Amino acid sequence: MQKCCTCGVEKGLTSYHKDSSRTSGISNRCKTCKKESDSKYKVAHGDEKRAKDRKYYKEHAESIREKAREWYVANPEKAKEQRKTWHDNNKERVDENRQRWIDENAEKYEEYQRNYQRNRYRENMDYRIKTI
Ligand SMILES: [Zn+2]
Repeated sequence: MQKCCTCGVEKGLTSYHKDSSRTSGISNRCKTCKKESDSKYKVAHGDEKRAKDRKYYKEHAESIREKAREWYVANPEKAKEQRKTWHDNNKERVDENRQRWIDENAEKYEEYQRNYQRNRYRENMDYRIKTI
């Protein structure tokens, strides 16, 4: 048994991660506390990083877009492949993002669907009129 330095609870050795830098050979913080502090860190610094990225992107949007466009034009095959690979690797994320967007923008989504259908209907009508 070892007392966790964070929550102060005595726990069995299996409740601690191995830590070879310590003489005891195990971490002085239990797995639960480590996990919690890790996720807190992630949340805090994830936001920081996102904000930084956003700021950077905002300040350099034009040149970033320009560079990306140049690269896409210069490497159409690679770009296509990359996009496909990314999509294949992030299918769940794509679906998740889509679903989240729909959840958060239910009204917008409905409007989008309505517009889409209306446009399709209109196009159809145009098409039919033209072919008459
Ligand atoms: Zn603990």
